[in-house]
Amino acid sequence: MSDLRQQIRDWALEEGFAAIGFSKAESLDKEAAFLKEWVSEGRPGKMSYLERNEDLRTNPVLLHPGTKTVISLVFNYYQENPTMTKGPKISTYALGRDYHKVLKKKLKSISRKIIENIAPEANIRYFTDSAPILEKEWARRAGLGWVGKNALLIHPKRGSYFFLAEILIDLDLAPEPEKVIRDHCGTCTRCIDACPTDAIDPEGYTIQANKCISYLTIELKDDEIDSAFKGKMEGWAFGCDICQQVCPWNKFATPTVEEGFVRVPQIGELTPEDWKNMTQETFETIFLQSPLKRTGLKGMKRNVEFIDPDMESDG
Ligand code: SF4
Ligand code: SF4
Repeated sequence: MSDLRQQIRDWALEEGFAAIGFSKAESLDKEAAFLKEWVSEGRPGKMSYLERNEDLRTNPVLLHPGTKTVISLVFNYYQENPTMTKGPKISTYALGRDYHKVLKKKLKSISRKIIENIAPEANIRYFTDSAPILEKEWARRAGLGWVGKNALLIHPKRGSYFFLAEILIDLDLAPEPEKVIRDHCGTCTRCIDACPTDAIDPEGYTIQANKCISYLTIELKDDEIDSAFKGKMEGWAFGCDICQQVCPWNKFATPTVEEGFVRVPQIGELTPEDWKNMTQETFETIFLQSPLKRTGLKGMKRNVEFIDPDMESDG
């Protein structure tokens, strides 16, 4: 069995994934109770999809019947972010092409190799942020890092600038549990202290999504952002990297090897005025394959209008 795991690991590394791990598929009962409480407290904000499919979300066997192993994978997206010094800030993960498309192709390739070389009858499904599954918990169980006080998966040698992905398979590939990496946050509170909207619980590990800038600038579809957040956005127009930037473990981050994630050339040059005057046609041309299409031009203009005073006061 370890040979099969090694073969799959090799294929994942060939596709550019930074790491891969295997966990036995089972119901996540403790996490299910936590999720129920989180939802009942209204923490998902208007992300009502988090209130649906609770059973599927915490049990991969229900999500994909027959699943015996959850294969977790991480893909590095880190790169220098020119929007940090110029123009409205865009989260580093969104500087290049939409990761769903880039990573799905790679997951498909690995799955095809499993079917062609290992198990022709294998029943496989793969996801990257595209199904109700607790990605971080599976990655933690697979020995790929710990979930930090900023609620992100952190690896002691690689940091947290990663996309997560999963392959669910009906082969028993995880007879032994992977060695789980213990929590290394210790007494650090940098992310909690730096979060400008106090979205991270004082004790850490839980995010109040409806206070998080990523939610406000991407998921929130309202015409306006609540004025309570005026002056607190620190120039972020799409997502927010603050709780990653301050995390000491990200000093180990290295630039991504994936061409698809290399930033759109114009992205660091766009001023607030450029954004406000942008036509739909220009937006479609520049951001044809970008995650920014999730927010759309209308949403980006709303965000840029909202943060403008912060940017002026930044000087
Ligand atoms: S992404 Fe930004 S707003 Fe959200 S929790 Fe992290 S620091 Fe706070
Ligand atoms: S900034 Fe500190 S507390 Fe927050 S996730 Fe990183 S190590 Fe943990």
